[in-house]
Amino acid sequence: MSDIDWAARARALAARFAERSERHDREGSFPFENFEELREAGFMRLTVPRAHGGYEAPLSTFVAVQEALGAGDGSTALAFMMHTKLFGQQRDGRSYPDEWYTEFCRGAVEHGWMANTVATEEGLGSPSGGGLPDTVAREADGGWVLDGRKTFTTLAPVLRYFIVLARIDGTAGEPPDLANFVIYRDDPGARVVETWDSLGMRATGSHDFVLEGCRLPAGRLLTRRRIDEPDPKSAAGTAWFALGLAATVIGVAQAAREYAVGFARERTPNSARTISAYPGVRERVARIELLLQRSRAEVADAVRAWEGRATAIAVGMAPLERIAVAKVDTVNSCIEAVELAMRVVGGVSLQKSRPIERYWRDVRAPLHNPPLEDRALEWLARAALGGG
Ligand SMILES: Cc1cc2nc3c(=O)[nH]c(=O)nc-3n(C[C@H](O)[C@H](O)[C@H](O)COP(=O)(O)OP(=O)(O)OC[C@H]3O[C@@H](n4cnc5c(N)ncnc54)[C@H](O)[C@@H]3O)c2cc1C
Repeated sequence: MSDIDWAARARALAARFAERSERHDREGSFPFENFEELREAGFMRLTVPRAHGGYEAPLSTFVAVQEALGAGDGSTALAFMMHTKLFGQQRDGRSYPDEWYTEFCRGAVEHGWMANTVATEEGLGSPSGGGLPDTVAREADGGWVLDGRKTFTTLAPVLRYFIVLARIDGTAGEPPDLANFVIYRDDPGARVVETWDSLGMRATGSHDFVLEGCRLPAGRLLTRRRIDEPDPKSAAGTAWFALGLAATVIGVAQAAREYAVGFARERTPNSARTISAYPGVRERVARIELLLQRSRAEVADAVRAWEGRATAIAVGMAPLERIAVAKVDTVNSCIEAVELAMRVVGGVSLQKSRPIERYWRDVRAPLHNPPLEDRALEWLARAALGGG
C-alpha cells in the first residue's frame, strides 16, 4: 500500500466539489470537472491491484474516501464509487475473465477510463431480486445483437465500459442464461438518452442506455451463467457496494451536521442568545452525534469483519450480515440525522439557497440501492430463523 493519505486528498477535492454542488444539483448537470480532478489526483486507479499498476487500496481506505467525497458532493461520491468498487469486488471475488479484467485495469491506470454495471430496467426493477432482464442478446454472424433499454446508468456521461446485463434465451425449452456484455458508447445501435431528473443525487448522470440492434463481436461477452446459478461475485459485490454506499451517506449527513452546528452557533433570533443555548437544539445536535457515531462504528465493524472473513467469528453475526446491518442502519440513521439537522436550522432550511435541503434529498437515494432493506432484513431473519 502506498503512503498516500487518500482520505486527506479526497477531503481537499471535496471542498472544491462542494462549491460546484449547488449548480449541478439545480441544473441536474454532470460534474465533468470533478471527475477530471479525481482523475488527475490518481483516484481512478485507487482500488486497481498493484500488479496492474494501481494503488490496491483496502476496503477501509475506500470507505474513508467515500465519506470524505460524500461530505463535499453526494452525487460525485456515489457516481465515483460505481467505478472504484468494481476493482475491489473483483479482487475479493473474481468473476471477470483475465483479458477483460486486465483491460478494465489498463483503461483505469493508463487513461482514467471508468466502468460501471448497467443492470437495472424499468420492468425488471432491482436486478438484485434475481429477475430476468428484458434486454436480450441473440447470436448472429459469429457475434451478438442486443436490444433493450437500461435505466439508472450512473456515470453515463463519462463511462468508457458499460457492463450490460442481458438474457440469452435457451433453445428447445432450456431456461435462459444471464450474461454481461461490454459495450462502448460509440458501438452502433447503442446510445445514452438523457432522462435522469430525480429528487436526489441529481448530478450522477444516471440516464437510460438504449440498445437497438446493437451488434457486438463475440469477444464482448464478459460473463455467462445459468439463471439458477449463483452470481460468483455476489458476497464481494455486496461488501464493497453496500459499505461504499453507507460511507457516502455518512459523508452527506456529516455535511448536514457541520451546517447545522455552524448555524446554531451563530443564529440569534429575537434575542442576544444563540439558538445553541436552547435545550431542544442541544438535544437534536446530540442525537445527530449519536447517529453519526453509530453509523461509523457499524461500517468499521463490517469492514473489519469482511477483511477478517477467513477467520471464524466467535460471537455475533457473520460478515455478510454485519454488512447488511451497516448498510440498512446507516442509511436510516443518516436520513434521521439530516432530518434533525433541518429542524435545528428551522424554516430557512427549506431555502434552495442553502445546501441543507440538498443533503436531505441526497441522503435518501441509497435507500434504493442494494442491498434493499426488505432483502437485507430477510438475510438477518434467515440467519436467525432459517428459511421462511
Ligand atoms: C442514485 C441511484 C443510482 C443508481 N445507479 C445504478 C447503476 O449504476 N446501475 C444499475 O444497474 N442500477 C442503478 N441503480 C438502480 C438500483 O440499483 C435499483 O435497481 C433501482 O433503484 C430499482 O430499485 P427498486 O427498489 O425500484 O426495485 P424494485 O425491484 O422494483 O422494488 C420495488 C419495491 O419492492 C420491494 N421488493 C421487490 N422485490 C422484492 C422481494 N422479492 N422481496 C421483498 N421486497 C421486494 C423493494 O424492496 C422495493 O421496496 C441506481 C439507483 C439509484 C437510486
